[in-house]
Order: sequence, then C-alpha cells, then structure tokens
Amino acid sequence: MGEIITFEKHHLQVPDNPIVPFIEGDGIGKDIMAPSQKVIDAAVEKAYGSRKKIVWQEVLAGGKAFSQTGSYLPEETLNTLKKHLVGIKGPLETPVGGGIRSLNVALRQTLDLFVCLRPVRWFKGVPSPIRYPSLVDMHIFRENTEDIYAGIEFMTGDGKAEKLRDFLINEMGATQIRFPESSSFGIKPISKEGSERLIRAAIFYAVERQLPSVTIVHKGNIMKFTEGAFKNWGYNLAETEFSDNVFTWRQYQQIESEKGKEEAQKALEDAKKSGKVIVKDVITDAFLQDSLLHPYNHSVIATMNLNGDYISDQLAAMVGGIGISPGGNINFQSGYALFEATHGTAPDIAGTGKANPSSLILSGVMLLEYLGWREAAEHVFDAMEHTFAKRRVTSDLHRMMESATLLSTTEFADEIIRNIH
Ligand code: NAP
Repeated sequence: MGEIITFEKHHLQVPDNPIVPFIEGDGIGKDIMAPSQKVIDAAVEKAYGSRKKIVWQEVLAGGKAFSQTGSYLPEETLNTLKKHLVGIKGPLETPVGGGIRSLNVALRQTLDLFVCLRPVRWFKGVPSPIRYPSLVDMHIFRENTEDIYAGIEFMTGDGKAEKLRDFLINEMGATQIRFPESSSFGIKPISKEGSERLIRAAIFYAVERQLPSVTIVHKGNIMKFTEGAFKNWGYNLAETEFSDNVFTWRQYQQIESEKGKEEAQKALEDAKKSGKVIVKDVITDAFLQDSLLHPYNHSVIATMNLNGDYISDQLAAMVGGIGISPGGNINFQSGYALFEATHGTAPDIAGTGKANPSSLILSGVMLLEYLGWREAAEHVFDAMEHTFAKRRVTSDLHRMMESATLLSTTEFADEIIRNIH
C-alpha cells in the first residue's frame, strides 16, 4: 500500500512507500516510461532492500487522456498531482487546435512550478562538441512563470497593438518605436516576488550542496528595469537573507572602491576558504561565451525564462544533447515538483525501440534526490556512467560514437539495471 508524501515546515516528509504519479506521455513516452521506472526501482531496491519502494500511480494526460476521457488534461490528473506533490512525466504532444497552448505550460501554471531546474553534467564516453566536457558541472535555475513567456503579445493590425502603441507614444512619451505603423508588441513582466523566489531557491540549493558559486545571468545593461532589477533584487536578497553563507561580487566591488583591490581580493579569498558561496552576475551574451570557453567558472545559474531557454539548450548540447538532459519543474515553497524528459515526443521513432530513455531516467535521478533518497540516485548515476563508458548506447548516440554497441530502448535500460546489480 502506498503512502502520501507531505510538505511540512518547508520540508518534504517522505514515507518508505510513497505514491508517485506518472504521466506516460505521447509518442516515445510509451517506449521510455516503463523501462525508466524499472531502472529507478532497481536502484531503490539496491540501496534500501525491501524497506523502501516507490508506488507508481498512472495519471492521464495528452493523447491517452483524450482517447479515454475526451480531455487532454483531466481535472483528476491535476488533483492527483496536487495530492501527491511529486510526479514524473514523459513528453506530451502539443494538441493542435482545441484552445490549449501547451499541456506542459498548463501543468507548470496550475501547480505554479516556478523553477525549471536543469542539472548539466557530462558522462564519460558520450560524444561532445567541446574539448573538455568533463569540466561541465552546472545547475540551471530558470524562472518558469514570467518574462516574455507570459504571452502578452499584440499583432500589428489587430487594433490592440495600435491602441498600445498610441498609449505608449501619447501617454508614456515613448519616442523609440522605430516603425510605429507596422510594429507588433510583446510585454515582459519581471516581478520582485518572482525574481526573489527563484534566486532564493538557487542560493539555497548552492549552500545546501556546498557548491562554489551562483551566477545571476541577465541582460540588465539593456533592459534595466526588468533584467537589471532581477540582478539587483538578487544581490539584495543574497546579502540580507544569506549574509552568513555568501559573498557577493557587489560586496567585492564595494571593498575595492573603499579599500583597494588587494583588500577586496583578500576578502574574496577568505570567503572561499570559509566555504561561502560566491554570488556574481554576468551579462547573458558574455555568459554564453564564457560557459563554452571556461565552464568551470560557473556552478549554479539563476536566470529569467527566455535566457534560461537559450542557456539550457546550449549547455545540454555541450554534454550530448537534449536526449540525455533531465529536467525538473519545482515549487520550493509548496513542495510541488514534476520531473520530466526534456525532449519532445519524437513521433518519427515512436515504437521503433530507438528512443533513448536517458533523459527520463536522469529525471528519475532528480526525483530520487528530491525525495532525499540520495543512495538510490547515486546507484543509477554510477550505472549509467558505466554503461556509457562501455559504449553500449541507443541509436541516437550510436551514430556519433566509434566502435559502440547498438542497444534498443529496453536493452539499454536492462544494461543499466545489470550495472546497478
Ligand atoms: P522532439 O520530439 O524532441 O524530436 C526531435 C528529434 O530529436 C526526433 O525526431 C529525434 O530525432 C530526436 N530525439 C528526441 N528525443 C529523443 C530520444 N529520447 N531518443 C532519441 N532521439 C530523440 O522535438 P519536436 O519534433 O520538435 O516535437 C515533437 C512534439 O513534442 C511536439 O508536439 C512538441 O510540442 C512536443 N514537445 C514536448 C515537450 C515536452 O513534453 N516537454 C518538449 C518538446 C517538444 P531523429 O531520430 O530524427 O534523430
């Protein structure tokens, strides 16, 4: 019998047999979900014997939900996810028509999953376009609810764009609209609350895991009151809420201007020696370059929605692509979390045994870590590392690796299970 995970005093209370709802997903979701669950179960058994076990409970979403209930995202699914707090999902096809923009967006909005967390690490043996992929070990905290993604957009010619244009010019004194007659508009809301909760979660994560730094990535040199404010709110929060645990680049600059570079350097070295997390900021374009050239400069990254989108894909490409990158959408204030494969439904290879389940398996590793079952998470991680190092891989990686052995989706999962044992 399964038990319910609860969230009390900011902490998840996890029973030994927690019920974890799962959404199988569309397309290759069917191919990767069951083998991934088998891998996770094997790791839990290896770590805790019969003492702990996840009780999986299927909830419907996507095509399977539509064919059984007439709804792509039944109310019951949302209620079950809310009741059990932590879930995992395969990829979902975005329904064409029907008024639903994206099931993934609907899930994130309904559960207010404000962090999109993407850990990025390289596995030995996995093809990478960079020379030293082993130096990549980053954790992206992408804000999931605000920014240009809020979808407040007006198309030129629809009347509303013209109304907004006239308001901006006549009421707000805007003179910078280059082609007013044919401009469309998009609005970029960035709030203090939204920024603070994201940056708080990122710093807390770094402090808890004793990671060296948090990089706030922004384009505040151009967008001063949105991205620039994100940076300033971040520094204010770091210096007030985490004063015992962090040293900020802003504090460094302050010491430098008052006492000189040598003193500032000494304060920085002292902070590092005492295990403080260094909170710094980098302009987005410079970050995209620096993370490629000097990935060891960055550990936890805190950024807004659009920057986070670009950064997630670039960093994923550096360690082998989205086929093996996991993701989690989390609300650290309520405990709600939904872990997911970051790729789509890949309908062209659905049912062929070619799908790589690594992204979903590694999302399962994130789920185990989130439950506090670190030993089990490490078993999966080590076994995957071993499998990649032996060059036993699915077709997506096989075509990029020399002298590798081609495995189907289930054979690859079984190989990981063998390595767990
Ligand atoms: P995609 O499904 O990620 O597929 C693009 C290509 O990447 C596939 O054709 C396949 O390429 C390869 N691929 C992706 N995942 C793979 C895996 N696990 N193993 C091996 N190869 C893999 O992207 P898409 O075609 O743009 O999107 C298809 C549908 O998925 C859309 O309806 C989209 O809305 C949805 N989607 C959902 C999510 C989500 O649920 N989180 C995310 C993205 C997209 P080759 O076999 O040709 O190499």
